[in-house]
Amino acid sequence: MIRNIQSAADLAPAYDLVVVGAGPAGLSAAIEASTRGLAVLLADENASPGGQIHRSVDRASDADLARMGPDYAAGRMLIERFQRTDLSYARRATVWSVGPADEETGDGEHALEIGISLGGIARPIAAHRVILATGALERPFPFPGWTMPGVMAAGAAQIMMKSSGLVPSGRTILAGTGPLLYLLASQLLRAGVSVIAVVDTTPLENWRLPLPHVLTFATSPYALKGLKLLLDVHRRTRVIRGVTALEAIGSGQFSALRVRRGNKSLHIQGDLLLLHQGIAPNLNLTLVAGCDCVWDERLAAFRPTIDVHGASSVPGVSIAGDAAGIVGAAASALQGELAGLTAALELKHLGQGAYEQRRSRLARKLARALRGRTFIERRFRPGKTFRVPEDDGTIVCRCEEITAGKLREVAALGVPGPNQMKAFTRCGMGPCQGRLCGLTAVELLAQWRGVSPGELGYYRLRPPIKPVPLGELAALPHTEAAIVAVAGFVEGASDGAQRD
Ligand SMILES: Cc1cc2nc3c(=O)[nH]c(=O)nc-3n(C[C@H](O)[C@H](O)[C@H](O)COP(=O)(O)OP(=O)(O)OC[C@H]3O[C@@H](n4cnc5c(N)ncnc54)[C@H](O)[C@@H]3O)c2cc1C
Repeated sequence: MIRNIQSAADLAPAYDLVVVGAGPAGLSAAIEASTRGLAVLLADENASPGGQIHRSVDRASDADLARMGPDYAAGRMLIERFQRTDLSYARRATVWSVGPADEETGDGEHALEIGISLGGIARPIAAHRVILATGALERPFPFPGWTMPGVMAAGAAQIMMKSSGLVPSGRTILAGTGPLLYLLASQLLRAGVSVIAVVDTTPLENWRLPLPHVLTFATSPYALKGLKLLLDVHRRTRVIRGVTALEAIGSGQFSALRVRRGNKSLHIQGDLLLLHQGIAPNLNLTLVAGCDCVWDERLAAFRPTIDVHGASSVPGVSIAGDAAGIVGAAASALQGELAGLTAALELKHLGQGAYEQRRSRLARKLARALRGRTFIERRFRPGKTFRVPEDDGTIVCRCEEITAGKLREVAALGVPGPNQMKAFTRCGMGPCQGRLCGLTAVELLAQWRGVSPGELGYYRLRPPIKPVPLGELAALPHTEAAIVAVAGFVEGASDGAQRD
């Protein structure tokens, strides 16, 4: 049975393995490692396990399950297995740092330390191994008007539907590209929402790009599912394709979407605009941990470099699931299982022979689960004009309200990379720490300089990766050197660090 950690006081000072993220990857990693005898802590920000795809599935009614589809419902079995596993589970817990253990405050035995915040208290936790299964984030989708009230991320609408049963009441328009756009359209339509149009921004050349992979896709589990989904949406609402530009219109509140298709223009009145143009690995914790990342042209995003076992460039830190590259729920679960198994091997809870046998079975299953993904990546790769706004007035950084024009002005000064651009403009310095603007800012600068985003790199992130109240940080145990650095002295210290 899992042990539910209710408060920071219930956390042990150290675990063999800390898994961050309770989606398919994290759940599978935690189940595998604890079944092999490791002391495991699984931490997740959400109120219940399941991650994005299976969010709140343990509390869903039969009607919810029917509306959300079979992939959603499949999460129940995984969560039931998880509930029966002997491990510690911290829900509503934010992990805000991962790094090497502090030489002074560490126990000298565990190599890694994670910063976790739970119920208003921050705690450092020691671990031999960490698996990051932090999933993906929706890709930014900046165009004129995208920050106006009445325009929101499609993923946010899906979160409300899954976690609170809330659905939009007015005329709803969906715009963008990718399988999740059509999935959400179908889920909303089944929930009785008035979806008046799906505005598809997939570039027309994307019909040609995936052609060499069509046969593999046709024999993958994605083909039939995808076809059913597309037919369902086309049957129930209007789908507008070949879209080359968008503008959200309204005075203080969204009231219409202006759509350009080549040299034709279209005006669609609506009350809510939901945006989605794919997902990208959630890198914030990966970067803070110091893991190497590369630009992946296929994903049009950065992803961490990992080996076949999921190990990152930082000893002891593995990455699994969408956080390592967008692979979907089935492959995420298999990658998680492999990372959990590898942790068990490294901590000597499993012999090499048994490991190799299991690993090769998992590798075969993984290859099957990944079948068809190249087709999907190419078919739904978002167009450049929707990744880097052409219009200078379009906001790129929502937190600090920095426009594309401002970024181009700074790019023209010759800034060498996104970190300098951040220092000049505050782009990426707000509460989201670049989660909503990072990719756009890097691609904009790369376009200006005529180089690949990989040459520029991404933001250099520092902990905490999410806002943590100062009081929580101040209450953490501090080294004598840190106290002296801030206060200049230590009460009761025996050496020169004492107050004069
Ligand atoms: C908004 C959104 C909606 C999606 N909906 C669907 C869908 O309906 N169907 C589908 O097939 N695919 C969906 N996907 C894609 C799907 O998430 C993946 O293919 C798959 O589920 C990935 O599994 P995962 O375990 O890697 O990550 P996820 O399932 O994303 O789980 C990651 C978990 O990590 C937690 N986390 C992240 N950072 C921290 C932190 N710092 N501290 C604590 N916890 C943290 C999150 O709370 C989350 O529970 C969605 C993706 C997104 C971004």
